Amino acid sequence: MGSKRELISIVIPCYNEQEVIRTCHEKVLEGMAGLPFDFEIIYINDGSRDKTLEILREINAADKRARVLNLSRNFGKEAAMTAGIDAARGDALIVLDADLQDPPSLIPELIKIWKDQNADVVYGQRVDREGETWFKKVTASMFYRAINNISAVEIPRNTGDFRLMNRRAVEALKELREHHRFMKGLFAWIGYKQVALQYNRAPRAAGTTKWNYWKLSNFAMEGITSFSIVPLRIATLAGFLISLFAFGYGGFIILITLFFGRDLPGYASLMVMVTFLSGIQLLTIGILGEYIGRIFGETKNRPLYFIEEEL
Ligand code: UDP
Ligand code: MG
Repeated sequence: MGSKRELISIVIPCYNEQEVIRTCHEKVLEGMAGLPFDFEIIYINDGSRDKTLEILREINAADKRARVLNLSRNFGKEAAMTAGIDAARGDALIVLDADLQDPPSLIPELIKIWKDQNADVVYGQRVDREGETWFKKVTASMFYRAINNISAVEIPRNTGDFRLMNRRAVEALKELREHHRFMKGLFAWIGYKQVALQYNRAPRAAGTTKWNYWKLSNFAMEGITSFSIVPLRIATLAGFLISLFAFGYGGFIILITLFFGRDLPGYASLMVMVTFLSGIQLLTIGILGEYIGRIFGETKNRPLYFIEEEL
């Protein structure tokens, strides 16, 4: 038997993570300790404005298994993750958050499921959303229900980016170069054998989240418009139904006027119609606009990220 061990790549996007990055590195080393695999840890510095890069340099100087990609600016987690995925050389790849919300201690379990069940993807799935407000839980639940009703691929609930992918899944994912990167959807879209690993997602170890409700609602919109054209269908259908009604009602008014003469009082119904119809019109134009915005972003076809320096 060849003694060549398989290589695991651990991809960690980092944006202003100076408080946790060292602990993160230690925990990953602990997670990998004793496993019969070689590994590389790829830290992507996504344009951090704190000391993240300096700390990463130190980690890299002390431990060559830690690679560092320094992006030319902040591109967002999806692009940072993609940079790491593109650079990974491993037979399997694990995506982790730097803030320890995806516990590195689960790495052995991810690997075990990958090996035992011959899975292509092992995705972490949160059992409870501990530490989240009920509002967040309810809106998250509504989001999953909506998106799974209208998108062609089933997107598993309560999953994040935390997962293991084998080489085949990684290569598939690398072919999806779209700019609006709704990762949950992309991960699901590639298919293959995907197995869940249930875990408790811990609150952030230190630092603060980069999410707020505005960003979350944009994210939800992004997910829906990237994975479904059902909103367009609804707009068309609504337009059709309203026209049908308008047609009938128009005919009715013409007849009334012809046979019974003019009937002037009608201010209320006129107002209701005008506001209702202009509301519907603005809404549909908005839906159209969302999709045009997506098309705009995609047709520019820019690279997803630039790497300023690689260590
Ligand atoms: N992140 C990144 N670029 C960004 C925002 C976040 O690389 O523009 C990284 C961040 O450092 C962390 C992970 O993505 O490792 C998840 O970010 P965060 O903890 O803010 O998100 P949450 O866990 O609240 O979903
Ligand atoms: Mg986090």
